[in-house]
Amino acid sequence: MEFSTWEQALLAILVIATIAIFAVSLRPRLQAILAGKPDRPRTDRLGRRLATAAKEVLLQTRVIGGRPVAGAMHAAVFGGFLFFALETADHFLKPYGFHLLEALFGDSGVPVFKWILVLWAILVSIGILGLAYRRFVMVKISPDPKSYSSGVVALLIFLLMVTYLYAQSSPAAALAKANWWTHAAIIIVFPHLIIRSKHFHILMAPVNIFFRTERLAELKPLNLDVEALEEEMAEGEEPSFGLETLADLSWKERMDFLTCVECRRCTENCPANLAGQELDPRGFILDGRASIMGDLAPDQPVIGNVISETALGQCTSCGACEAVCPVGIEHLQVLTGAKRAQALSLGTGLVASDFFETVERRGNPFGESADLRKKLVEELGIPYYEPGKTEYLLWLGCVWGYNNDARSSLEAMVKILKAAGTSFGVLEKESCSGHHSRRQGEEMQFQTLAGENLERLKAAKVSKMVAPCPHCLHTIGREYPTLDEAFRPEVIHHSELIRELQAKGVLRLASSRHGGVATTYHDPCYLGRYEGVFDAPRDLIRAAGLRLTEMERHGRRAVCCGGGNAGFMSQKEEKVRVDQVRKKHVAATGATLLVTGCPECKMMLDAAVKETKDLAELVAEALVEERGADAS
Ligand code: SF4
Ligand code: SF4
Repeated sequence: MEFSTWEQALLAILVIATIAIFAVSLRPRLQAILAGKPDRPRTDRLGRRLATAAKEVLLQTRVIGGRPVAGAMHAAVFGGFLFFALETADHFLKPYGFHLLEALFGDSGVPVFKWILVLWAILVSIGILGLAYRRFVMVKISPDPKSYSSGVVALLIFLLMVTYLYAQSSPAAALAKANWWTHAAIIIVFPHLIIRSKHFHILMAPVNIFFRTERLAELKPLNLDVEALEEEMAEGEEPSFGLETLADLSWKERMDFLTCVECRRCTENCPANLAGQELDPRGFILDGRASIMGDLAPDQPVIGNVISETALGQCTSCGACEAVCPVGIEHLQVLTGAKRAQALSLGTGLVASDFFETVERRGNPFGESADLRKKLVEELGIPYYEPGKTEYLLWLGCVWGYNNDARSSLEAMVKILKAAGTSFGVLEKESCSGHHSRRQGEEMQFQTLAGENLERLKAAKVSKMVAPCPHCLHTIGREYPTLDEAFRPEVIHHSELIRELQAKGVLRLASSRHGGVATTYHDPCYLGRYEGVFDAPRDLIRAAGLRLTEMERHGRRAVCCGGGNAGFMSQKEEKVRVDQVRKKHVAATGATLLVTGCPECKMMLDAAVKETKDLAELVAEALVEERGADAS
C-alpha cells in the first residue's frame, strides 16, 4: 500500500495531536495522585512485586478467579492488547516505509505472526461481544446503570478487530486504504476514551498492583510517641491520626480511587452489602474518586464525602473486597484510616465504644476479672508456660479464657495436647490481643494492649505459639512484629498443630466415631483469607470421619460471620445482620453439624444448624486412646 506525502503529514499531525491531548488529560489525574500524603515504602521487595504484577496482569488470575466465564472473555480481550501492540506500531510506521514486523520476524515469520493475530482477533471479537452482552443485556448479572463509554469502547475494540481481519482478506486497493485509515482513526481516538472512563484501569492496574501491600490489609502502626508528636507540633505540623480530611489521603489511596474498574466484585462479596446494609465498597471507592477529582477543598471531611458514618460502622474488616479486587485496590487502608480518625480525633460515630471501655477496665471484652481465667486454668489442669522448658505457648485469647460457652473447646484442646504428649503451657496473664480495638481505629488501645502482651511474651522467651483464635493469631503473629522487630515467634493455628501431630502419628483418630455426620465448615476470615489456612481444618474434619459439604461461598470467597470489628460483642441495629446471611448459607448445605476454627465465629454462628463445634472438639471426640495414655 502506497501513502502520499500529504497522507504521511496528516498521520503525523494526528498522532502528535493525540499524544498532546492525552498528556493534557492525564495531567489532572496525575496531580490528584501526587497531591497525596507520603505512604509506606512501596518499591521494596522489587522482584516479588514484579512477579505479582506479572501474574495478575499477564495471566489475569484475579480477573478469571470468581468469574470464570466473564474473566476468560476479559483475558481474551486483554491478550488482544498485548498481541496487537506490535501490529499497531507496524500499522503507524508503514506509511513511512518502515516495516516493523518484517524487521522483527523476517519474511518467513510474518505470515505465522499474522495467523496468530487472526486467531486472536477472532477470540477478542467473541470476548468483547460476550462482555457487551453480559453488561448491556443480562440485566440481572449486571444491574448497574449502563455507562455509554463502555459501549463505545466495546464497539471500537470490535471494529478494530473487524478492520484487521478485513485487511487480511486482500481487498481492492481503494477499500484497503479506506480500511487502513478507519483502523488508524479508531486507534487515535481510543486513548481519549480510555482516560475519560473506567477504562483508565488499562494504564493504572499494573502500576496499582505493583504498589499494593504484600498482605491483605497490612496496617501501618501510627506513631503515637508523645515526644515525636510534640516535635511535629513545634515545627508547625498538625499531627494526623487517620483520614480526617481529603488532605490526609495518601497517594496510593488516591491512586486506588482512580484505578477502580467498577466491576462490583468487592460489593458482591461484601457481607454487609449481602445483608442489604448500606456499605458498598465499590460505592465508596467511586465516591473517593469523585471527591478528589471534583471541586471539594482538601479540608473537606472523608466521612460524609467518601463514606458515610453508617456504612463505615458496618464494615467487619473481613477483607473480601480487597482480596477479590482485580486492580490492587486496598479498601481497608481507607476504612481503617477513617475509623482511626473517628476514634482518635473526631470521637464520633464509634460503634464499639462499650467494647473499648470494657477492654480498658478489665483487659478483656467480657468484663471478667483475671481470676476467672486463673480458676479455669486450674480446674482444667493446664500447665503454665515455663521459659526454656515448655515448647508451645497456648494462647487462650478472650473467648477461651473468659467465656464459659467456650469451655468445651478449651477442654478438648487440652485433652488433645495431653494425649499427644505435647509440651505446652499458658501465660499467667494475657491481655486482649487488641485485634478488634485496632480494627475499630483505636490504635492507642491496640498499642497499649500489644505493649502489655509483648512484655509478657518476651519475658517468657516465647518462640512457638498456638492460638485457637485467628484474630489473635494474625495480630500477634503479623502485627506485633511491626511494633517490635525483635519479636518474631512462630504462631500457628490449633488446627495446624493438631494436623501436624496427627501426621506424625502421635494422635490417632477413629474415623468411625462420628459415623459420617453431614458437616459443613465455615472459613474464618482471619484464618482463611488473611492467613491462607484452608486445608488443615478440612483434613481434620475428614480424618475425624465427618462427611464434609462445602458452602457455595467457601475458602477465599467465604462470607464473614459478622463477628469482625468487635461485631461478636456489639449489638448492631441492623435489619438483616451479617450472621443471619451466613447462617442461611450454613443451613443451605443440609448439614447437621457446623464446624468452626474460630471461637468468635462459633459464638456468631451457634444455632445455625443442630450443632456447632470447634475443630478441637470433634478431634477430641475421635481420639483413639494409646497404650496406657489417658485420652478419655
Ligand atoms: S472488609 Fe468486608 S465488610 Fe468491610 S467493606 Fe470489605 S468486604 Fe465489606
Ligand atoms: S474496587 Fe476493585 S473490585 Fe471493587 S469495583 Fe473497583 S475494581 Fe472492582
